[in-house]
Amino acid sequence: MLIETFIRKQLRLKAHTVTNVEETDEHMLVHIDRLGKRLLRCGVCRQRCLEVHDIREEREWRDLSMRKLPLKLRYCPRRVECPRCGVRVEDFPWAEPWARVTTALFHAVAKLARELSWQGTARQYGLNWKSVATIVKRAVKYGLQDRPRPPVHVIGIDEVSRRKGQVYLTVVYDLERRVLLWVGDDRTEEAVRPFFTEEMGRRRCRTLQVICMDMWAPYAKLVKDHAPKAQILFDRFHIVKHLNEAVEEVRRSEMRRLSRKEKVAFKRSRWLLLKNPWNLSDDQKERLSTLVRWNTPIVRAYYLKEAFQLFWDYKQPKRAEEFLEKWMRSAMRSRLEPFKNFVGMLRAHLDGILAWTKHHVSNGAVEGMNNKIKSISHRSFGFRTAENFIAAIYHCCARLPLPVER
Ligand SMILES: [Zn+2]
Repeated sequence: MLIETFIRKQLRLKAHTVTNVEETDEHMLVHIDRLGKRLLRCGVCRQRCLEVHDIREEREWRDLSMRKLPLKLRYCPRRVECPRCGVRVEDFPWAEPWARVTTALFHAVAKLARELSWQGTARQYGLNWKSVATIVKRAVKYGLQDRPRPPVHVIGIDEVSRRKGQVYLTVVYDLERRVLLWVGDDRTEEAVRPFFTEEMGRRRCRTLQVICMDMWAPYAKLVKDHAPKAQILFDRFHIVKHLNEAVEEVRRSEMRRLSRKEKVAFKRSRWLLLKNPWNLSDDQKERLSTLVRWNTPIVRAYYLKEAFQLFWDYKQPKRAEEFLEKWMRSAMRSRLEPFKNFVGMLRAHLDGILAWTKHHVSNGAVEGMNNKIKSISHRSFGFRTAENFIAAIYHCCARLPLPVER
């Protein structure tokens, strides 16, 4: 088989043909022309058109490589007279109207960019970074328009930092299907509102039942505005994070107070606090009791923290509430300022914390996806623009459909 025939078949040309394949040191140049008087299609509506209006300047498309040589297609596009659309550039069977690459290369690049960085993908296909960025953004645009939108019941709203904790994005997950729904630039009320008004819309907001989030005020306000019937549930991992911060604060202020000898002894025995007392040897018990004598505030903080973890196992809302009330009272008696603040935070968000017992969902379900977003940011050495970072997140986490290969 001639190489011309092979390429013509590969590109599934019907109204076009390969006139010549030219080999240079760096490329294979595939020259394409119209085949006789076969009818061309309109680039907008794909309708067959009888009349060709004019012939434009030659254009070039990058295609997949043949062995090691990159393929380039060259063709002079026709403009057709479409009865519906008027004078339009024809439809190319090998590429989308806007594209500088063929559909086959577009697909290959889009798929690889889900696994590798944009730089890595570009290197693999001998393209530049910008071409990969264009392809990914096109794929995301297409995917967002064309993705299925089944009803959503349980969502998680979270923030991810861009550029070492200085700038934040908001991500929204469908916690049932474990898929990314939406990414917004920033974490303010205005920035996140479009999720409810545009992505969801009033009708789809009505199916929302549980919304999992940090005790971050703007998000809760948005839920009250747009999905008033949904239950707000404060995320387990965020609550534990605040609790750990309280422990850390107590530890730090106590360490400042201790003498050097006490500090060393304390550092060596800190882990004893996390073990069950009945598993300790006599020597360890001795060390623990010294520890308790020296550092009562730190010890109290550790035990409060450990006791709090029991809350997550309660099955009955009433029991859970009783437990939490008891815990909060003992935390208030602990004379530890950070714990009093933590209790204040719990009190202000009690309904959304107790909701855990009923629903047992948390953003932990999508922790893997959060890590993926972090690795996307790392492997690209941090995206300079939010727009690119957002496109990369959608591309890797939203399971968007790619355009169908024709
Ligand atoms: Zn048309």
